[in-house]
Amino acid sequence: MILQMILPITYRIYPSGCKAEQCVRRSRGVASAGAAAGIFEEFSTGFPVELSTAYSTAWARVCRRERGLRRVALAAGAALGGTLVILALGLALSLTLTTAALAAAGEGVFQIPQGGVGRIEVTIRPGDSAPWGSFRAHPVPFVHAEASDNRFVGLIGADMQSSPGTEPLEVKVRRDGQSVLLARLTVEITKVDFPEQRVDGVPDETVNPSPKSLRRIKREKAAISHLWVSGPEAPLWRDAWRSPVGAEPSGRFGYRRVFNGEPRSPHNGEDFPAPSGTPVSAPNRGVARIPGDYFFGGNTVFLEHGGGLFTFYMHLSAITVKDGQQVEAGDVIGRVGATGRATGPHLHWGGRLDGARINPLWLTRDAPVYRIGPEVEGTPVEAAAPASASAAPGTP
Ligand SMILES: [Zn+2]
Repeated sequence: MILQMILPITYRIYPSGCKAEQCVRRSRGVASAGAAAGIFEEFSTGFPVELSTAYSTAWARVCRRERGLRRVALAAGAALGGTLVILALGLALSLTLTTAALAAAGEGVFQIPQGGVGRIEVTIRPGDSAPWGSFRAHPVPFVHAEASDNRFVGLIGADMQSSPGTEPLEVKVRRDGQSVLLARLTVEITKVDFPEQRVDGVPDETVNPSPKSLRRIKREKAAISHLWVSGPEAPLWRDAWRSPVGAEPSGRFGYRRVFNGEPRSPHNGEDFPAPSGTPVSAPNRGVARIPGDYFFGGNTVFLEHGGGLFTFYMHLSAITVKDGQQVEAGDVIGRVGATGRATGPHLHWGGRLDGARINPLWLTRDAPVYRIGPEVEGTPVEAAAPASASAAPGTP
């Protein structure tokens, strides 16, 4: 009887169990690990092989941990089947586990690899405000999920070189006249072993610039650094991203680069080899910022999508937008070329989210998702909602 009482609780802690085998077997697919209180996370893979490996590694880690926890739970169950003394001990252990699980309601672990993007999806209740969040001392704005009035999406990013470890993420909503903490998540940034890429045959001036070029590089770096911290906090982007070019990515984001035999900065974007002149279009709504000719990037366009999110486009043969021009998804912003430090025509597509260097492919393909359902009660907190979250437009 007690065994029956305990085991369902144990299973409720891990409702969907470990799917490590599926993770390994499927290079494209979906795997999920359950967590408490209707909150669960989901990984989808749809990346080139190199990045699928990163996913698999991340998942193997999740599953190893789950298997370990399940062993503890099963050990408790076995103990209950033994003597009364062991049953009592097992009961105590199970109660400890249960208490931990209940305390963890509204909490959870959300894994993002270095250079990755995570989606937080919140389904609100009627009358709730739009959600808002905070991560790494930055606000996390939410926008309506595609074709949904009560589902919202927020994005967080992990820099390609951020130290593996954990960072807290809070998600709140205004409900019944007060701020409510819906979730306090632990974002675990997992290490990715980016391969080395040797690039030979680039002009030596772009590897060992002259003092004059170094002064130019410094000026350009300052202008670009300033860009990442400027702009509106409200997102301009919609929850529907598209590829900027009709070409396949090379999957070389994050590669440690060695130019002409000399180590340089890691590759902070995705390359799309395409014929010179191929149109490059905006992947989402944004505003063109400081387009121009840059030392390393050649002809470059930066798009500001609001809410701390930027994407940028390098080595273009032509730029077709002006500084401050607003563009919609699909608008042509330039053409593929080989300007700047490039060995052939391709689009270099980069992204920044709250300053973190992210692989923008995560915007267009399945990023890890953490879902918070309307059944989550949350905890009332003393916190003023941002003005933008006072009402959820379009919500009943
Ligand atoms: Zn590149």
